[in-house]
Amino acid sequence: MSPNSYRPIHDTNSISYDSLLQGNQKFVEETLKEDPDYFNKLAAGQTPPVLWIGCADSRVPANQITNTSPGEIFVHRNIANMVIHSDMNMLSVLDYAVNVLKVKHVIVTGHYGCGGVIAAMTHQQFGLIDNWLRHIKDVYRLHATELDQITDEKERTDKLVEFNVIENVYNLCKTSIVQNAWKNNQQLGVHGWVYSIQTGIIKDMKVSTYDNANMADVFRFK
Ligand SMILES: [Zn+2]
Repeated sequence: MSPNSYRPIHDTNSISYDSLLQGNQKFVEETLKEDPDYFNKLAAGQTPPVLWIGCADSRVPANQITNTSPGEIFVHRNIANMVIHSDMNMLSVLDYAVNVLKVKHVIVTGHYGCGGVIAAMTHQQFGLIDNWLRHIKDVYRLHATELDQITDEKERTDKLVEFNVIENVYNLCKTSIVQNAWKNNQQLGVHGWVYSIQTGIIKDMKVSTYDNANMADVFRFK
């Protein structure tokens, strides 16, 4: 059995603190049965070709949905897969991924039915998180003309999920980290995907960017 093979959906009531540790034991036993050298090889170091910026939602795990294994994707997750240029956590992950690990792709992956996006579309206060969701409201304002024309609420939410991914791809491109990599001729693509929890299928938003040629002039660094 590979480490990312299919596992059934559990009743989450059956997940206890102890069952997680028992699950770990089972994982180690089964993995070693398959490859006695598995952990030694992983411990030697990581050279993942991809940085994944995804939502914290428990149903969107980077490795499982791309059929990849530990060591293959460097992961950063937050609520609604945001790229906020004052977020030291995201910037540190991006800097390390691009400048030390030399990843070849950065992928922003959103998902339909995202709780963060749905919350941002309401007028309700949720507490501290309102400050985080504000960035999604800003995305709405940028695309309000198109979004306001969509009368079906689910359809409008889906569209905002897509716009949110696209804007966060642009946010990545605006960083000096990504632009310096391009300036130094480092091979780096920035991409946007939306995952459907309902079908398991990833939609490529076709906004892949490999240089700052088409960027709004004010954001372009020399
Ligand atoms: Zn989400």
